[in-house]
Amino acid sequence: MEYDVVVIGGGPGGYVAAIKASQLGLKTACIEFDEDKSGKVKLGGTCLNVGCIPSKSLLDSSYKFKQISESFDDHGIKVSKPSYDLSKMMQRKDEIVQKLTGGVGHLFKHNKVESIHGKGKLVSANEVEVTNSKGKKQTVKGKNIILAAGSRPINIPSVPWNGSTVVGSSGALEFNETPKKLAIIGAGVIGLELGSVWSRLGSVVDIYEAEKTLLPMLDDDVSRLIEREFRKQNLNIQLGTYVKGSKKSRKGISLDLEIDGKTTSAQYDKVIVAVGRRPFTENLLGKEVQISLDEKGFVPVDEYCRTSLDNVYAVGDIVRGPMLAHKAMEEGIMVAERIAGKKMEVNYDLVPSVIYTHPEIAWVGKTEKDLKQSNIDYKKGSFPFSASGRALAAGDSVGFVKMLADKETDEVLGVQIFGNSASEILQQGLIGMEFSASSEDFGLTMFSHPTVSEALHEAALAVNKQAIHIGN
Ligand code: FAD
Ligand code: NAD
Repeated sequence: MEYDVVVIGGGPGGYVAAIKASQLGLKTACIEFDEDKSGKVKLGGTCLNVGCIPSKSLLDSSYKFKQISESFDDHGIKVSKPSYDLSKMMQRKDEIVQKLTGGVGHLFKHNKVESIHGKGKLVSANEVEVTNSKGKKQTVKGKNIILAAGSRPINIPSVPWNGSTVVGSSGALEFNETPKKLAIIGAGVIGLELGSVWSRLGSVVDIYEAEKTLLPMLDDDVSRLIEREFRKQNLNIQLGTYVKGSKKSRKGISLDLEIDGKTTSAQYDKVIVAVGRRPFTENLLGKEVQISLDEKGFVPVDEYCRTSLDNVYAVGDIVRGPMLAHKAMEEGIMVAERIAGKKMEVNYDLVPSVIYTHPEIAWVGKTEKDLKQSNIDYKKGSFPFSASGRALAAGDSVGFVKMLADKETDEVLGVQIFGNSASEILQQGLIGMEFSASSEDFGLTMFSHPTVSEALHEAALAVNKQAIHIGN
């Protein structure tokens, strides 16, 4: 069977590329090897099965539990001591995952994407060898190939996963009881999100981070406030810490740690290793294929996601750039459109990032650190949620919005937000930035009152010292 487009991988990069290609009139197949317990193909990749969606389901459930346990009293609402049923919480999460992954199957049918179940390997510029779970092979031909094999968590030799006491992020979404003492290696996105989940549900959480600064990609004033707030939430973040080794102990697992040059050890029921992910490119390319992976295993591509072979593209976590579902999806759409002869581009300068803790952390564009490094003169404005009427009414007023604009042109160059609904507020900043809005443009836009988004409006006004609800 020959297709116009053959996609390897049914995650956000691959399934979106396949749907778009088919919508553009290209005969398309998508190859995916993941399967459920009954042996049926499971689409949706890391994001839908063990990433974005299940983690957000547990973040939302655990946040509701924390709110009802701690903050309803402030509103004058009396509840008797709440408790939770972890197996029901997990079941709810699994049902959401099933609904969404099944939904991708329906979208494939609706858009006439052929779903092929098996492991794909590119064996020539136009041929993919597909091996099913019984070892049977077939060859699928494509005029164009899109590689979208995604990523896997990094394992570290000092604390190897064992599937019970030491797990990666997937295992941490499946605990059948709440660990009493939980260690997380890595205070990155997963460490903070899953640390929040289990801390809200009652675990004592210690997070060990090798870097001396928390979230060093953000400006120091933002990351310092985040660190302070998370410590208040009982996330015990230890910066500049190395885990030297681990041993099974009577009660669980013991970690050997080096903190500020001193060695110590600590006991845990469970350890989550969350030190980043690597591209999943093993056995993806046959020896005959003229594409060389880079030293970290990524598939090298140009700005249009084209590999060294003209008709072979790669998108999502297996290529350079942040490992984010929305970046993978946009790349998938760009590649499908370019195969169909259109001219789409991805604006890599404006890829938003969100960490779904509470408060949320969201940022896009340049930070002060970036601008200083590039010798770009800038001005800045910020607005604290403690001065937002809506945030105060909600009892949720930690954090601030910070906006950076070019000193001369006033074009907005970056936004960082720590606060309630940061993800949604950031999106408004991002839309303006896509149209090269100035801080004055944001200032002249009317924002509904009372909304937490007004903090973005006031931060924009503050850039030119025109804020109304704080001192300039
Ligand atoms: P993947 O989603 O990894 O999909 C690749 C697919 O290809 C998989 O289904 C795999 O089985 C299949 N595959 C691989 N090799 C082959 C082969 N040879 N043949 C056939 N099939 C193959 N990102 C966000 O933007 N927001 C979030 O909130 C977020 N939360 C996350 C939470 C967690 C816990 C984790 C782990 C990740 C999270 N991410 C989030 C990251 C996001 O999941 C990834 O960036 C995204 O899934 C990448 O999409 P992809 O299509 O490149 O790869
Ligand atoms: P990450 O890169 O965000 O964080 C890893 C952290 O581990 C870093 O702070 C790093 O300094 C630290 N680290 C590395 N080695 C260490 C060691 N030996 N000891 C102690 N600390 C160490 O990676 P992650 O949290 O594993 O997430 C993986 C990917 O998944 C990220 O690229 C992220 O973009 C994506 N993701 C995104 C979201 C989201 O968008 N909300 C959520 C989860 C995951």
